[in-house]
Amino acid sequence: MTSEQIWQAVLGEIELNLSRANFVTWFKDTFISSFENNRVIVCVPNAFVKKWLEEKYHKNIISALESVTKQKIQEIIYKIELRRGAIPVLMVDNLENKSEGNSPASQFKKKGAEENNNSAAQTANNGTVNQHGLNPRYVFENFVVGRGNELAHAACLAVVENLGKSYNPLFIYGGVGLGKTHLLQAIGNAVAKKTNKILYATSEKFTNNYIQAVKSGKAKEFKNLYRNVDLLLVDDVQFMGGKDGTQEEFFHTFNELQQNDKQIVLTSDRPPKSIPAIESRLISRFESGMVADVGKPDIETKIAILERKAIERNCPLDREILAYIAEHVQNNIRELEGALIKVIASHQFKGLVPNLKSVKEILNDYVSNIKTKSLTPKEIIEATAKFYNTTYKDIIGKSRKKELVWPRQIAIFLIREDIGASYPSIGAELGGRDHTTAMHSYNKIYQETVEMGNEKIKQEIGSIRQLFASSY
Ligand code: ADP
Ligand code: MG
Repeated sequence: MTSEQIWQAVLGEIELNLSRANFVTWFKDTFISSFENNRVIVCVPNAFVKKWLEEKYHKNIISALESVTKQKIQEIIYKIELRRGAIPVLMVDNLENKSEGNSPASQFKKKGAEENNNSAAQTANNGTVNQHGLNPRYVFENFVVGRGNELAHAACLAVVENLGKSYNPLFIYGGVGLGKTHLLQAIGNAVAKKTNKILYATSEKFTNNYIQAVKSGKAKEFKNLYRNVDLLLVDDVQFMGGKDGTQEEFFHTFNELQQNDKQIVLTSDRPPKSIPAIESRLISRFESGMVADVGKPDIETKIAILERKAIERNCPLDREILAYIAEHVQNNIRELEGALIKVIASHQFKGLVPNLKSVKEILNDYVSNIKTKSLTPKEIIEATAKFYNTTYKDIIGKSRKKELVWPRQIAIFLIREDIGASYPSIGAELGGRDHTTAMHSYNKIYQETVEMGNEKIKQEIGSIRQLFASSY
């Protein structure tokens, strides 16, 4: 095997366990430049990626290398080197000079914390902060970093450090209540210390402002407002889907800002390509910087978040209680927070000290009232079946008939793109298929649609998305 082939096989293994956004961010433009005596030199495009691979993915890379080459790997050296023909990207300054042994996220976090601790600056800025439409409560300092949000968090800090220059735009996506608005506004609050020209708007507000401005003959003022900022934060861009006039205006706003190195940060409940009824030129703009996902937090992160919020509310709780809440409130952080507030409030109301039993009683009602809102693989498969006039059972079934293979591949593609599920779990959802089948199907559809731009398939996929978008 050549180094190139080895690395492709290694990437194939690594991709199995990562979301697409993570995989692309950290492994795009990596390659092996030398493989001798069980020492490997892995080349990466910049210092940011280097740190991240060294600290987060080193073990995965070693084990993938060992399983591909069937050799014990002695050493991996990560080296910053661009493949010939690659375009260098401006990166976080001096990352290499900072203290060793810290993950990029924690380095940034410290920095953010120091800044936030500067209470004089904080108070002085509170007035201005609110004037941008930002909630002063959403800062990096009280954002708990863990699995699920570390990529998005690091990217946000990189944006603050290098406004307009590191990742522009930064596009953050993920399910409801997972901290997108918090991160978006934290960027605003941090940048507010350096510049006043910040604008935060939900995409609905952008739309309404625009319609209002056109009606009252103030389109020019509208343009001036949105195009004359150093930082534009747009929350929930998925709601621009289907609104053609707004998309047109936003497209021009976007171009003007991006061309002048003015920072744009966007959030959405799904990746750019999955937003129904959005123009393809906007999709390509959204994808032109960095796309970072936020996923569900793991149990440790949930406990850490609860612990912090309980202390913020002057009501520290035992770990046992925190763990109970974390385990029983599954969906997202907003609900987690809601459950905690409920627990604290009802104890305070009754003048009781919380114990596990009293907490269980209170949460029983709460937990059963929570409805699952996030999209499931089953819903995607059902929508796909409906579109192709077949059934859920047939799609996950054994038959290899052409009329079934195609919908199956499309469903796999959609589950990967829109939920970010891992290949093994997709295989399991599709009637216990092997992960390689899932991967092969995904890649096939990805090539046809994204790389080759097959419009017919893109439309089919768009229609299926409309089907499941309306149900959730
Ligand atoms: P989204 O915009 O993704 O729907 P939000 O940003 O509104 O979610 O987050 C919901 C709530 O959860 C907010 O109160 C936010 O402060 C809190 N939250 C989310 N993620 C975190 C986190 N990692 N650390 C602390 N609080 C969080
Ligand atoms: Mg939000």
